[in-house]
Amino acid sequence: MVEFEGRGPVGYDLLLTIPPHSAPKVVVESGLAKESAWIPVDPGNLAVAGFENVYAIGDVSTVPLPGEFKPGVKLVMPKAGIFAQYQGEIVAYHIAANATDAKLAGKGFCYIELGDQHAVRGDGSFFDMPHPTMAPPAVPDRTQYEQKKAWIDGWIRERL
Ligand SMILES: Cc1cc2nc3c(=O)[nH]c(=O)nc-3n(C[C@H](O)[C@H](O)[C@H](O)COP(=O)(O)OP(=O)(O)OC[C@H]3O[C@@H](n4cnc5c(N)ncnc54)[C@H](O)[C@@H]3O)c2cc1C
Repeated sequence: MVEFEGRGPVGYDLLLTIPPHSAPKVVVESGLAKESAWIPVDPGNLAVAGFENVYAIGDVSTVPLPGEFKPGVKLVMPKAGIFAQYQGEIVAYHIAANATDAKLAGKGFCYIELGDQHAVRGDGSFFDMPHPTMAPPAVPDRTQYEQKKAWIDGWIRERL
């Protein structure tokens, strides 16, 4: 049995669950995190305002997006591995190569597997105006499934 806020207990056969998503205590206590409990950063270079040479990447950061779907409703970049990777690369350019013109492009992609060795790739462009856009998805097929596997294999191999 599991109990949700205000609901339950509820029975289940198989429970897949994720604990509440929050920044680690050390980040919250550092004073870098603001109202949202995440660290707001410059969307171009991931610098933390008010702290010299401090950058935040990945899930602990909040990257504001320029566009909006509804007037006044601010958007932020989704938290995903692909964005953490791209953000890390930009910050590495800034720190290691002093490449101050290196800027996040706001683009990202993911593959969705649909079974039977079929997958589809989704490509998003999150700094687009007037709002983030997704490229029209291709028809799921085995080619994209193979591309997904190759992408993951390459990603892991590069980091071993
Ligand atoms: C169920 C699930 C499915 C997901 N699926 C996808 C997906 O399909 N595609 C995708 O792109 N993204 C996916 N994501 C999101 C992706 O996992 C995250 O966006 C990504 O891992 C963020 O990387 P990160 O390095 O910022 O943080 P993390 O991967 O969370 O790494 C942070 C690390 O810091 C460590 N840490 C924490 N506190 C301390 C401390 N005090 N001292 C030292 N170390 C500490 C943690 O143990 C952890 O290892 C998924 C997330 C979840 C939960």
